[in-house]
Amino acid sequence: MKKRLLVLALAVLALLMIVPLASSAFSSVQQAAQQAIPTPSPSPAPTPTPQPTPTVSTVRFSATGDNLIHNGIYNQAARRAQAAGEEGYDFSFCYDAVRDFYAGFDVNWINQETLVNDELEPSSYPCFSTPGDMGRELYDVGFRVFSLANNHTYDKGAEGIAATRRFWSSLPEDAVTCGLYAGEEDYENIVIRETNGIRIAYLSYTEFTNGIPTPSGAEANLIYTSQTDVIQRQIELARQQADFVVVGVHWGVEGSHKVTDAQRALAQQMADWGAGVVIGTHPHVVQDAQWLTAADGRQVFAAYSLGNFLNAQSTADTMIGVVLSFTLEKTTQPDGSSETVLKGPMLHPTVNHYGANYSQIRMCLYKDYTDELAQSHGVRENFPNFNRNYIESVLRDNIDNTFLDL
Ligand SMILES: [Zn+2]
Repeated sequence: MKKRLLVLALAVLALLMIVPLASSAFSSVQQAAQQAIPTPSPSPAPTPTPQPTPTVSTVRFSATGDNLIHNGIYNQAARRAQAAGEEGYDFSFCYDAVRDFYAGFDVNWINQETLVNDELEPSSYPCFSTPGDMGRELYDVGFRVFSLANNHTYDKGAEGIAATRRFWSSLPEDAVTCGLYAGEEDYENIVIRETNGIRIAYLSYTEFTNGIPTPSGAEANLIYTSQTDVIQRQIELARQQADFVVVGVHWGVEGSHKVTDAQRALAQQMADWGAGVVIGTHPHVVQDAQWLTAADGRQVFAAYSLGNFLNAQSTADTMIGVVLSFTLEKTTQPDGSSETVLKGPMLHPTVNHYGANYSQIRMCLYKDYTDELAQSHGVRENFPNFNRNYIESVLRDNIDNTFLDL
């Protein structure tokens, strides 16, 4: 009996050992079966297609200050034309030394301080009218955007406005003016031109018109800097319709290098509303420039006064101007969205030169200007210290030196 019990116990023990073995064997078979299931072979590698990349386009832009045409300038131009046996006025001599400089830009913007036209008699201070040959010469030098909102716009009343509008519309189609509007119903017609695929809006305003009210019967009027509701609406519209908004403002204190609080406040507001650059003119002398941060975080450049361009004024500092230059860079993403930014703003000094008794009035680049030429400048009659050192000190003392191209 004991022996049978032992055998039974051994048999149970053997069974207990075999079952796990069998279970383990089954599990192995299962794994093998799983491994045998063919896995799908990788699909053939697709031909690599290039990732869509953003495209970049650029515009080289310049802006120039007050082109202020006194009688000395147009009388000399008339004599040059006469000497050559030609009709009219030859202003080419005035700009020969800056022609190559302006050829380096895609867009050249200028504040045309006086009414250019082919109809009224030429006249000088205080109510200016300038022969049409001046406008044709500026076009020939390469200017394409003419800002017409300034304190001399109403100098010749309704007649002057009509004459100058007819003149500017007689230029080739790629010449554009800004700052004059045919009444309130015209305020929403934002001037926009496309250059190298970048749509640029042009707006211009003036602080005053020398006490002359909007002439009755005038076919067009300008917008004052006090009309901030209109300005805000225009800049916001321009920002919606264009890639970049250029705002010219004729403001500040004549003859003063000091930027007023009002200039700074308005520049900041314009930046917040959507301006990309604020180009200041009118004081006839240079003022500072700076980056502003707009409400939406954009970096906006403000040059508060570019100073004078061609003129026959009589003080040393009105001989000194700067041309603002920068590059606009538009980056367009594959989904069509785009961003346009202003890069590398610089201020290039210029000198308005004339000899004794306001003879041979013409523009020079400061880079090319010599002390020898300065020695012969007619302004030394009243300012004997006028030379390169003096010019440089005026620039360095009044403009953030990081923007100066000396
Ligand atoms: Zn002015």
